[in-house]
Amino acid sequence: EAAVSKNFIELIIEKDLEEGHIKQVHTRFPPEPNGYLHIGHAKSILLNYGLAVKYNGKFNLRFDDTNPVKEKIEFVESIKSDVSWLGADWEDRLFFASDYFNQMYEAAVKLINKGKAYVCDLKAEEIREYRGTLTSPGKNSPYRDRSVEENLELFEAMKQGKYNDGERVLRAKIDMSSPNINMRDPILYRVAHMEHHNTGDRWCIYPMYDFAHPIEDAIEGITNSICTLEFEDHRPLYDWVVRELEYENPPKQTEFAKLYLTNVITGKRYIKKLVDDGIVDGWDDPRLVTIAALRRRGYTPESIRMFIDMVGVSKSQSSVDYAMLEYCIREDLKLKAPRMMAVLDPIKLIIDNYPEDQVEYFDVMNNQENESMGTRKVPFSRVLYIEREDFMEEPPKKYFRLFPGNEVRLMNAYFVKCESFVKDEKGEIAEVHCTYDPETRSGSGFSARKVKGTIHWLSAEHAVPATVRLYENLINEDNEPTEGEGTLNLNPDSLKIMETSFVEPVLAEADKEDKFQFVRQGFFCVDSKDSTVDNLVFNRIVSLKSSFKI
Ligand code: ATP
Ligand code: MG
Ligand code: MG
Repeated sequence: EAAVSKNFIELIIEKDLEEGHIKQVHTRFPPEPNGYLHIGHAKSILLNYGLAVKYNGKFNLRFDDTNPVKEKIEFVESIKSDVSWLGADWEDRLFFASDYFNQMYEAAVKLINKGKAYVCDLKAEEIREYRGTLTSPGKNSPYRDRSVEENLELFEAMKQGKYNDGERVLRAKIDMSSPNINMRDPILYRVAHMEHHNTGDRWCIYPMYDFAHPIEDAIEGITNSICTLEFEDHRPLYDWVVRELEYENPPKQTEFAKLYLTNVITGKRYIKKLVDDGIVDGWDDPRLVTIAALRRRGYTPESIRMFIDMVGVSKSQSSVDYAMLEYCIREDLKLKAPRMMAVLDPIKLIIDNYPEDQVEYFDVMNNQENESMGTRKVPFSRVLYIEREDFMEEPPKKYFRLFPGNEVRLMNAYFVKCESFVKDEKGEIAEVHCTYDPETRSGSGFSARKVKGTIHWLSAEHAVPATVRLYENLINEDNEPTEGEGTLNLNPDSLKIMETSFVEPVLAEADKEDKFQFVRQGFFCVDSKDSTVDNLVFNRIVSLKSSFKI
């Protein structure tokens, strides 16, 4: 049964709990504050947080900010906001790896004292050369056998700022002929004269990820250090670090497969380029799959959690269809979002036999599948807006909407029959003229004749103008995501702006981030950045039709 099946990490944890290797599960999400989080990170966040909740454990949010090059406070703030929006609650357990720089330095000194680390003067390219390859062993650095005293002195001098960037490094003394290249005396510390967003210019040496990360986990009492598959080969080094530093109850690393989505751009590097090149409107452009962008587009935390649950956790790499994410937001909003009428590309429909000054109000259910959402009043009058595509002068077969002589139902209102139409000077349809039949009023029980088409509408004098943005994938679906030189295969039609749309009058009160179904059009969200009282802006989250099946 899907409901009771456990993923491989849960099985590991349950065994560890049972055998007493761990007492209480403690996980963390360790982002580097060098960009915005994306849908892939949501998998890691919800996995780590979910395990803590499931096993009554603890969850930390820890900024892995040990590399000052690309880290910024802006990213710290956006990450906090995204993690908490997703519902992962770190309570009072917010940490910065940079707060452990002293302990990391002490840990390095401890390794030197144990004869397990040395200062090396080889240049970067020499270190690479000496490291060897997958098929050939490395060779020892000529500085490998420095005395503990000399190493302590040199490492202290590194810290004092006596050397330039790249002049000297601290390396672990492990095994230059290990089949695992990560174990061939990896670098632990490097010199970098750089400002750090948290520690300023206090440090000019910074620890490498493979050294820093296990220490961070151990300091915080993390039991299960969960990371993605590319770190599998680094696990022996992780274990070496916690063993040589003699931590009690050392954390254990477990790897899972990254989440990849088809036809969307995940990697931070590519997203950053789109932002820097001005191809998208910032990190939260609704066409991106950063968490901030998904939120602005109108995705809910519930829909993202449902999606991550469906994807599951495994060790095998695969891509998930973007349509599955769309399925999840449709499912989530189906019963929650009020269903309204909006006309995106309007033409006028005039009911010639409807009294000129009359306005009547129809009581319309806010959600036909969820009665508890109540009803609203929708004004109806002689001049309406309908969608341009709901009228055709010369319809093809099976077109059941308006055309000369045809009768359709105006949703929630009356039957109308098309009598004539008017074109503007450009030859485009400007007005459709109809007559209505008062007998057919919605709710009257009229059944004398049937019509095949139902269209939506708005009373022109009551409708509220709005801008509606329609999105397609940023990447051309039929092509590879990138072509030569790694340039992205962009879809020129990824954004279509409907500047002259109209929505129901009640929507004038809509707040930023409010979500609606526009009948026949899809689900829409009030844009949190650009929408104002005077100019409502809606983003289409997703259309109503789905190609995705479960
Ligand atoms: P990117 O390569 O997109 O910049 P990253 O791994 O460099 O991602 P980090 O800030 O280091 O970004 O990631 C924080 C955590 O999120 C790490 O534990 C990482 O393994 C995890 N993570 C990153 N990308 C994915 C993904 N696509 N699927 C699942 N987990 C991910
Ligand atoms: Mg990383
Ligand atoms: Mg990264």
